[in-house]
Amino acid sequence: MNEQSTFDEVKRRLAEIHYLGRAKALFDWDERTMMPPGGAESRAEQVAALVRVRHEKLASDELGRLLDELQPFGEELSYESDEAALIRVARRDHEKARRVPVELLAEMARAASVAENVWREAKRRNDFGLFLPHLDRNVYLRLRYAHCFEREHVYDPLLDDYEPGMKTSEVTAILADLREALVPLVEEVSPRAAEVDDTFLRKTFPVDGQRALVRRMLGALPMPSESWRLDETTHPFQMSLSPTDVRLTTRYDEDDLPAAVFAALHEYGHGLYENGVDPALDGTPLGRPTSLGLHESQSRMWENHVGRSLPFWRRFYGALDESFPGSLDGVGAEGFFRAVNKVQPSLIRIEADELTYDLHILLRFELECELFEGELEPRDLPEAWNERTQSYLGIEVPDDAHGVLQDVHWAGGDFGYFPTYSLGNVIAAQLWEKAREALPDLDNQIEAGDFEPLREWLREHVHRHGRKFSAAEVVERATGRPIEVGPYVRYLTSKFRTLYG
Ligand code: ZN
Repeated sequence: MNEQSTFDEVKRRLAEIHYLGRAKALFDWDERTMMPPGGAESRAEQVAALVRVRHEKLASDELGRLLDELQPFGEELSYESDEAALIRVARRDHEKARRVPVELLAEMARAASVAENVWREAKRRNDFGLFLPHLDRNVYLRLRYAHCFEREHVYDPLLDDYEPGMKTSEVTAILADLREALVPLVEEVSPRAAEVDDTFLRKTFPVDGQRALVRRMLGALPMPSESWRLDETTHPFQMSLSPTDVRLTTRYDEDDLPAAVFAALHEYGHGLYENGVDPALDGTPLGRPTSLGLHESQSRMWENHVGRSLPFWRRFYGALDESFPGSLDGVGAEGFFRAVNKVQPSLIRIEADELTYDLHILLRFELECELFEGELEPRDLPEAWNERTQSYLGIEVPDDAHGVLQDVHWAGGDFGYFPTYSLGNVIAAQLWEKAREALPDLDNQIEAGDFEPLREWLREHVHRHGRKFSAAEVVERATGRPIEVGPYVRYLTSKFRTLYG
């Protein structure tokens, strides 16, 4: 075979692998939005079967042989070309897959699927003991998984699945820098933040009004209406089946208006990234976002930099007021903006304000490292969790449902995932600083409801690349700097000092 036909054959095989991955995403989306509980057991088997078939194709000797043949061809091409990137990324995926026995992978998928359903019940009943055997099993399986790879730190292979190329030591350094900057800032602004009036947010906001508001907001943001849908779930998430099939979810609770609004904006940011990947890359391993940290940078940007800004609420305050007639008398855009930025250490990560959010992540990252280093047993997690919440956030955890059981990640076996949230915050601020330089009129554009220039900037510098470049490469190309916490600390300091005088 000549190089071109070998390349075409590799692409054909990779397309199948890519589409099997997307099919699994549909199973996952369905499980979290539509599936009746009775589907849980056979869904676990369906997912395991799909994972097995995909893995066998990705790890196959034949694909390895074809990739070997293409190696010299790939090295002659420019690093930036789609073809070179495809060969590079496919080789990395293939080599990772080769190291993991297919049985282990199928078992991880099956165990995670069962555990997620038990976790839901355990959280509802506030019963950590019910969940513990499944947590034990997930940790055991992920530990076996980590041991399939060469590593500096046992956590490295887990992290690498979500943040390719990133090391545990790098995350430790970033989180340490953040902690050093955030703890004094929280102490500085907390007393004045306590005076902010957010009592009106504790009113009841009928769910119909919330649905209407969220629809109006998302409808005004740039993404073609035929490319996305919005559904309801307890734990909001985004999942895409293709760049033009973006699935957003949010949750509605009449006692919690901000939850619905900011979850929707957050998931929109994720969806916009998926939607912006170059269509020419679809159907290849490059045709999706490159890392969870970069993914999260996009959601946090729309949730916080855009959504929790004064210009945004000057734009949407009218829609807000109309959705809940009489509920917001006299609050005004500025009052609403101040209320949704109130700094207040809280128990639940997804409800945390921007300043205390990363302390929630630090806590989880430390516990995960200790679990995998063998310093902490799963059964001792609740106690360790509660102690650290007291020490980092200064609050008492009343029960496990509001503590160690609050997030789905450990049920899904997703260890290594949490730090990508903080990386996302850091990267978001770094990109935002650069975007503002390029778009000096950005605040006015947001207030005027013109989000196109920002979307275009993000598409050009981030979205379109898909997996062609790593997160670190994307950031370096967009900003000229490695990933660093400086812009994030500057952003938080300036925002909260301005807010609180
Ligand atoms: Zn997210």
